[in-house]
Amino acid sequence: MAGYNDRMESAMSFATSLARGAGALLLGLLAHTLTLAAADVSQVPPPGIYRFRVGQLDVTALSDGTHPFPVDTVMVGASGPEIGDALEHDFLDRPPAGSINAFLINTGKRLILVDAGAGALYGDCCGQVVQQIRAAGYLPEQVDLVLLTHLHKDHVGGITSGGRAVFPNAVVRASKTDVDYWTSAAAKAKAPEFLSTFFDAAAASLAPYKAAGRLQPISGPGPIEDGVEVLASPGHTPGHLSFAFTSRGQTLVVVGDLVHVAALQLPHPEVTVTYDSDGAEARKTRVGLLQSAAERCYLVAAAHISFPGVGHVRKAGNAFEWVPLNYEAAPTRVKGATLEKSP
Ligand SMILES: [Zn+2]
Repeated sequence: MAGYNDRMESAMSFATSLARGAGALLLGLLAHTLTLAAADVSQVPPPGIYRFRVGQLDVTALSDGTHPFPVDTVMVGASGPEIGDALEHDFLDRPPAGSINAFLINTGKRLILVDAGAGALYGDCCGQVVQQIRAAGYLPEQVDLVLLTHLHKDHVGGITSGGRAVFPNAVVRASKTDVDYWTSAAAKAKAPEFLSTFFDAAAASLAPYKAAGRLQPISGPGPIEDGVEVLASPGHTPGHLSFAFTSRGQTLVVVGDLVHVAALQLPHPEVTVTYDSDGAEARKTRVGLLQSAAERCYLVAAAHISFPGVGHVRKAGNAFEWVPLNYEAAPTRVKGATLEKSP
């Protein structure tokens, strides 16, 4: 017969095993928590590359980051309620997250970067283009040519870091009009005060390339490379350019800052931004280029349409609609960081 002591021992051992069980459970929970902490999502960058093909071209959209886009202070020609309605219609917060996108085009012979993000100029939100180039399997040293749609900070800032060229083997090209304007002390003196740092940033970003003889301004529209054509698209800046890449009958037009807030400016292409050098000209360019992209079924790549910012445009009365590119997980022709020649 089990005595008191035995019963106590048994109860104690039950209690001990319960405690051990609870301890193990706690340890398990703790370990789980630690695992979650180790996998803190804020430490894990979200995917910032999106690869697709245009004919024989391998194109990678690169996310430089996103920032709260100040719709309440920079939109011109839309009332507060109109802005609110447009955002609500597209299920967006106010302010919405604004994408900054750049595009890397591997022609098989040349590696061409269009726009380079903000570098250090927008703070921690952005400046991830180089990281994305590496994630896509390339190295900044492999970039042969950097084409800049214009010389605002969020496009040119990424070409230079600490006064040194981020793309040491690349030639940098932007419109001569923009290069002349954004490096001119006279133009800076005449421009609105809020653009003053844009002049400084453009000059500083271009400096190492200029010093190395690798800044080659583009004097006008027309072909500049095999299958690459420059389109004048002025207004947002005096010399804003778009670049059309054509391969095997398909055309991708990289349009830079044709659109800042798609939810508002596609249904209302007349709406401009305070950053436009010439709002009326920017509006005319937006309508003209979107219309031609819609008519010709061009694929459009935009710097500030939600990442990857690649899609087709449809005309709907006086408005436009955005049709994002269909996702395709097919392997690309590019293997790792090796550039293959076009067949
Ligand atoms: Zn921009």
